[in-house]
Amino acid sequence: MSASISSGYQGLIYKVAVPSPLRRIFDYLPPESNQSIATGTRVQVHFGRRKVVAYVLDKAANSELERHKLKPIHAVLDSEPIFPTKLLNLLQWCAQYYHHPLGEVLSTASPGKLRSSISLCPQQIVYQASSNVDQPTLDSLSRAPKQRALLEFFNKKPSATKDEIESAGFSAAIIKSLEEKKFVERTERSQNAMELFSPLNSVNPNSLKLNSQQQQAFDAIKLNGDKFNCFLIDGVTGSGKTEIYMQVMQHHLSEGRQCLVLVPEIGLTPQTVTRFSNRFDCPIVVLHSGLTDNDRLEAWRKARAGSIAIIIGTRSAIFTPLPNLGLIIVDEEHDSSFKQQDGFRYSARDVAVMRGREENVPIILGSATPSLESLKNAESKKFSYLTLSERAGGAIASATTIIDTANEILDSGFSEQLLRKIDQHLTAGSQVLVFINRRGFAPILSCASCGWIAECEDCVSQMSVHAKPPSLRCHHCGITKHIPAVCPTCNGGALGTIGVGTQRLEKFLEERFSTIPVIRIDRDSTRSKNKLTSMLNQIQTGEPCILLGTQILAKGHHFPAITLVAIIDADAGLFSPDFRGQEFMAQTVTQVSGRAGRAKKSGEVAIQTRHSTHKVLTKLTRTNYKELAMYLMEERKAASMPPFAQLVLLKAEGNTLNESMNLLQQMNKVSIRLIQESNSNIRTVGPVPAPMEKKAGRYRAHLLLKADTKTTMQQFLTQFVYQIDQIKLSRNLRWSLDVDPREMI
Ligand code: ADP
Ligand code: ZN
Ligand code: ZN
Repeated sequence: MSASISSGYQGLIYKVAVPSPLRRIFDYLPPESNQSIATGTRVQVHFGRRKVVAYVLDKAANSELERHKLKPIHAVLDSEPIFPTKLLNLLQWCAQYYHHPLGEVLSTASPGKLRSSISLCPQQIVYQASSNVDQPTLDSLSRAPKQRALLEFFNKKPSATKDEIESAGFSAAIIKSLEEKKFVERTERSQNAMELFSPLNSVNPNSLKLNSQQQQAFDAIKLNGDKFNCFLIDGVTGSGKTEIYMQVMQHHLSEGRQCLVLVPEIGLTPQTVTRFSNRFDCPIVVLHSGLTDNDRLEAWRKARAGSIAIIIGTRSAIFTPLPNLGLIIVDEEHDSSFKQQDGFRYSARDVAVMRGREENVPIILGSATPSLESLKNAESKKFSYLTLSERAGGAIASATTIIDTANEILDSGFSEQLLRKIDQHLTAGSQVLVFINRRGFAPILSCASCGWIAECEDCVSQMSVHAKPPSLRCHHCGITKHIPAVCPTCNGGALGTIGVGTQRLEKFLEERFSTIPVIRIDRDSTRSKNKLTSMLNQIQTGEPCILLGTQILAKGHHFPAITLVAIIDADAGLFSPDFRGQEFMAQTVTQVSGRAGRAKKSGEVAIQTRHSTHKVLTKLTRTNYKELAMYLMEERKAASMPPFAQLVLLKAEGNTLNESMNLLQQMNKVSIRLIQESNSNIRTVGPVPAPMEKKAGRYRAHLLLKADTKTTMQQFLTQFVYQIDQIKLSRNLRWSLDVDPREMI
C-alpha cells in the first residue's frame, strides 16, 4: 500500500478574517448548526486561547490544513452580513493598500459595540400589564411607591420596551419585582424593520439663489448626474461652498438617496449640523467620537437600514454601510484629522474617493485651501476642478499686515506693534482672535536678535532641539551637534527655541487686557462639548473679547464680530521639520484669516515673523493660497516629494533607541535587497531617530521609503511586508507602516 499523501482537508470550510496583527486569513469548519453563512457576516471563533469576533469572507471546498487542525466556527452572530458587498470590497482594498491586516480593518470599520459578540438586530424586550390595573392592585403596592408608579405608568401606556421604561426613570429591579408579582408580563419581539426615509421634494424653499460662480459649479456637478466623479471645489472661506453642497444634496435626497458628509472635527459639527437640520426636513445623524457606544450603534443601524437621509460624521463615518448612497461630501478636505495616525492608518478623504468609485456615486471635496495632492489631481484631470473666488453674501476680504519681529525682544511672544493693534480693535468694540501655531513639532533653535535658525548643512533643513542630552539634531540624516553658546551669525544674540505655549499667552493677555475676557480654545479646553458650546455662545454675543487658540480655531467657525486675527508666530510653520510644514502653515494662516470680517465689519490679519522676506510668506500675503500652492508644488516636483512621489513611513518603537534603530536597519537590508532584485525605482532614507524620539516612554525610529509611482510602491510593499513579517521581534519591540503619512513626527 502506498503511503497516503497529506493533502489537507476536503470539505466545506470558511475563510475568516480575524482581528490580529497576523496578515493572513484563517480557515474554519462550518458551525455545528451547519447553517450557511454569507460573506461579510460576523462570527465568533476560537483563536489561540481566546474567543474573538471575526468576519466571514468566503467559503472554499477544501483547506490546506489537516482536519484535526481545523476548528468549527463557534457561533454565527448575525443573520445577515454587516457589510454590504461594495463596502466589503472597499475595506479589502484598504487592507491591501495600507498593508494592514484585514481583520483589524474590518474591526476598525465596525461600531465599537459590534466588536463584541452582541447581535446586530437584538430582540427587543417588551413589558405589558397582565390585566387591567385596578385600584386594589395599586393599593397592594402602597409600601412600594416606585412599583406602584410603574404600574400607573402602564395604565397610560399598556406596553413599553425595556428601554422606554428605564428612560422613564424605573430601574431594572423595579420591573423585575412587578414581573415576579405577575403584575407585568415580559415578551420578546424582533425589532421592527426600519423604514426608508421619505424622499424630499426636489425644490427647497430655503435654498438661496446661487451667484454666478456658485451656479457654474452647481451646473457642472448636476450635469455629471448620479455616477462617479470627483469634484474639487476650491472656494475661499465664505464663498458659499456649503450652499452648493446643500443644493446638490437636495437633488439626491429628493430621489431617496442618502448623503454622507465628512467633516474634520467634532468642534465643527454643532454649527454644520444646525445648518443642515434647518435646511432639510429629514432624518439626520451625527457620527463622531464623542458618542456613547450605544448611540453610535443606534445611529449606525439606522443609517445601514436606509432610514437616515443625511449622515454627518468625522473620519470613521466613511465606513458606514449605506444601502442607498447617492453622494459623498468631504468638507475641508485638506484637514489632517482625516488621516488616522495610529493602528489602521487610513486617509478618510482618499478612502472616500475610492468609495465613490466603488459605489459609482459623485463625491465633492471642498476647501478654501486644497491640499497639494488634490490640486495635482485636479491638474491631471482626475478631479473636476471648480473655483469660487469671491465671498458670497457680500463680506469683504481682510487686509494682511506682516509684523517683522527680527529685531525686537518680544513680550511673551507679542511685539509692541501687535499689542497696539489688539488694543485698537478691542477699544473699537470688536473681538480679536490670537492664533498660536502649536502642532506637535519639535522646537527649533533661533537667534532672537538676527533671526538665525540652526540648520543642518547637509540637508538644508532646520535642526530640532533635544533636551536630553542637550543637542541639535537633523531629522533627515540623523546628525547631531552641540547647541552653540552664542549665535554663530551675529555672535551675540540670545538663542532660544521657537514656540510659546498657549497657557503662557493666556496669562499674559489676561494681565495686559485685564477688563476683557480671554477665551482659550484648544484641544484641552474643548474636550467637553458643553464647555465648547458655552465658549462659542459667549463669542456669539459679539461683546469685545480675545479668543486665543490653536488649529481648532481654523476650522470653519463663523465669528462675525472678529475684526483682527493675530498670528503670533509664522516661523514655526515656515521652518518645520515636516516637508508639509509650509503647506500646513499656509493653510492655517488662510483658514484663520477667513474667520475675520465675515459679516459687515472688514477684517485685518497681522502675522508676526522674524523672516518677513521669506518667499513663502510674501507669496502668501501678496498673492493668495493658490499661487503659493503652485510654487510649493514646483518645489515638491523638484525634490520628488508627494504628490510627485509616494512615501511610506516604517516606524519602530522599543524600550531603547538602539533596539528600534537596529530593527529598522535589519529591515532596510531586506528592502535594499528587494530593490536590487526587482530593479525598482524606490529609495530608502534612514533609519533615523524620529523627530519626536521619545513618546510615552518609548523610543521611536523611522525608515522612509519613497517611490516614483504608487504602482511601484505597492508591488514592492507586498513583498517587503511579507518578508519583514518573518523577522522575530524581541519583547516590547513593535513596528508599523504608515502609507501616505501626513505627519512625519
Ligand atoms: P463656505 O462654506 O464656502 O464657507 P457658506 O456656504 O458658509 O460658505 O456661505 C457663507 C455665507 O454666505 C453664509 O452665511 C451663507 O448663508 C451666505 N451665502 C452663501 N451663498 C449665498 C448666496 N448665493 N446668496 C446669498 N448668501 C449666500
Ligand atoms: Zn541633515
Ligand atoms: Zn544672531
